[in-house]
Amino acid sequence: SSSPSSTSSSSSSSSSSKTIVVEKKVVSEEIIQQKKALPVFSARKALVENVNKHSTVIIISETGTGKTTQIPQYLHEEGYTNKGVIAITQPRRVAAVSISKRVSDEMGVELGQQVGYSVRFDDKSSKDTRLKYMTDGMLVREAMLDASLSKYSVIILDEAHERTLNTDILFGLLKKIQKKRNDRIKQLEKEEQEEETKQDPESSNNNETTIQKIKPKISPLKIIIMSATLDAELFSNYFDNAPILYIEGRQFPVQIYYTNELQKDYVDAALVTVLQIHLQYLNNETIKSEEDENGGDILVFLTGREEIENLEKLLIDRIPRLPEGCKELLVRPIFAALPQEQQMKVFEKSPKGSRKVILATNIAETSLTINGIRYVVDTGVVKSKIYNPKIGIDSLNVIPISKASARQRTGRAGREFEGKCYRLYTQSTFENMDDSSIPEIKRSNVANVILQLKTIGVHDILGFDFLERPPLPTIKKSLEQLYCLEALTDQGNLSELGKKMAMFPLDPMYSKTLLKSVEFNCLEEVLIIISMLSVESIFFIPKDKKQEVESIKKIFFSPEGDHITFLNVFREYQRVKGSLEWCFNHFINIKSMTKVINVFEQLVKYCISIKLKIESCENDFEKVRKSFISGFFMNVAALQPDKKYKTMVDSKEIHIHPTSFLFDIKPQYILYNELTITTKAFARNVLPIEPSWLPEICPKYYGSRPIPQDQNSDSSLNTLNQFTSADDN
Ligand code: ADP
Ligand code: MG
Repeated sequence: SSSPSSTSSSSSSSSSSKTIVVEKKVVSEEIIQQKKALPVFSARKALVENVNKHSTVIIISETGTGKTTQIPQYLHEEGYTNKGVIAITQPRRVAAVSISKRVSDEMGVELGQQVGYSVRFDDKSSKDTRLKYMTDGMLVREAMLDASLSKYSVIILDEAHERTLNTDILFGLLKKIQKKRNDRIKQLEKEEQEEETKQDPESSNNNETTIQKIKPKISPLKIIIMSATLDAELFSNYFDNAPILYIEGRQFPVQIYYTNELQKDYVDAALVTVLQIHLQYLNNETIKSEEDENGGDILVFLTGREEIENLEKLLIDRIPRLPEGCKELLVRPIFAALPQEQQMKVFEKSPKGSRKVILATNIAETSLTINGIRYVVDTGVVKSKIYNPKIGIDSLNVIPISKASARQRTGRAGREFEGKCYRLYTQSTFENMDDSSIPEIKRSNVANVILQLKTIGVHDILGFDFLERPPLPTIKKSLEQLYCLEALTDQGNLSELGKKMAMFPLDPMYSKTLLKSVEFNCLEEVLIIISMLSVESIFFIPKDKKQEVESIKKIFFSPEGDHITFLNVFREYQRVKGSLEWCFNHFINIKSMTKVINVFEQLVKYCISIKLKIESCENDFEKVRKSFISGFFMNVAALQPDKKYKTMVDSKEIHIHPTSFLFDIKPQYILYNELTITTKAFARNVLPIEPSWLPEICPKYYGSRPIPQDQNSDSSLNTLNQFTSADDN
């Protein structure tokens, strides 16, 4: 929509006559009009005034009013970026990437220049970047390098209602930083005044040291909290009664339908519903206005990539068999692992005479606003991380959404015109839902948080000013886990190993594995495996070639585990120098492999920066397996006579996930990286282990007792009482 034409603006620096040419693209009239039509546009003046006046401001409005895209631009135009960078945090990387792209288009600049983004393993920002969209996790990491986040003049915590772990941590960190910066400024002002009164007024002009002192390179920090839900009091109270601004959005009525009975298979129910909606259109039932001539798009909420891809396949299968006269139905998936160009497709307007059906995770609930939606199909479920502090393990579970989420999802159908929402659950299911979701900090492992806070210099975790504190048993268990990982000393301080672990943008279990592999001389293999595990799927499976793919996969198979199988794929990929033909013939997803290489190279850089020796163990994979035990010693299970697995730490029944290469083999003892709970608890990324390795490699956890195959879980809990109580005080 915008054609590049270059207007150049020159700025000359004093030392040379170099001219900086800023490439600017023409911003289309359509975009200019769209910006003005957003509800936030008329609130601009009030917004800016409040930000000028108060150090912290809370902004509440419905989704789609223009908060995320517009407010940073307003502040940029008001000059806030002259004093520093504006950071806008997002809970999800997809949102950070796609919104920064949109904003760079709106400003007519190249993404990565004035507008950029920064997400884990992918940084598109430069020294010129003034508006930086980033995941909340990346900002926490930046605080580990610069504890006062001095390059930022404004930090916007967006999507605060989501209450992600990292956003919650940022609440505490930013409050501290704001105070620290203000105190420093006051102190400098005081010193300045004292200097002045000491000075002889006539000679003061010549005193150069004074001039240097009164120009401190420190500016106050503005904090803006943006949220889509109305419970802003919590945020306001936390920030000394910061003002709350409400921006009115637009909302048209949405008719809600429930199912009469419980749906066993909600993916199938979603398929039927989408097709029904589309067939109604054939009968012209729903065409009400001209702007609506496409019949309006459909948005389906699912829990994750696998479901999305399933429904996509089912739909693509059915579409050719729709009755004559049916308009075209375009299927548009969106989830984090999808390549960016494909993600952006959800925003493209459906061509005349067609409609799109968007299959999304809850990314589309509040983070992303897609225009043109008239129908929402809500499965009523979400994938959520749940922590069991008794055993210290996180798992991903599919759980019912909250009433607040259900209402948000419904609202997506009524942004531009009247809409309909099909809830694939009964009315009584809705009535039994929780009012709102439990914040992540109350349901996750906080080992990583503790490691990060300690690196930033917050040693007293229990005394940290949390917006809401994690449950005490969780803090204790996470401290214990860090201690067993040898990241903390007996006194609860960061160990040398712990400091190194915190350097890596990885969960502590992974960073421990990586660092330990140095001792086993297999860092190269472990780096490769961790990179391979960072992408969701290495193989792509065309739906008519399932058998063929299965036989190809066998080429790479190793009985020593999924990890080694992935390693084999990577080595082969390297050997053929990433040949496209080879990838194609082996059903290897080229985009995934490109990402793997990128992650691998970045991890290598971190390793080099702390002078780790990158050695290879060739084919001595026992070393690799042992390295993984050093990080994942809690994720282990033993095969039972009934062919089911029981976890070693709490004797829960689990199963190897069907996608694992070991699904049929069923080794006696296994280690796994992840537990996903859907209908059953499934272990993913599995490798066989020897139980005798556990006390050998993790004496802190397994040393004091026999191999805990059939032991009661509670015996593992009291190992560290002395240590945890020491940190409680
Ligand atoms: P809020 O943060 O208040 O929910 P946003 O600033 O995200 O609102 O969205 C404002 C508008 O920008 C919406 O109408 C949305 O459709 C539009 N928008 C955002 N990203 C894109 C994109 N990539 N392409 C087209 N429109 C977009
Ligand atoms: Mg937003």
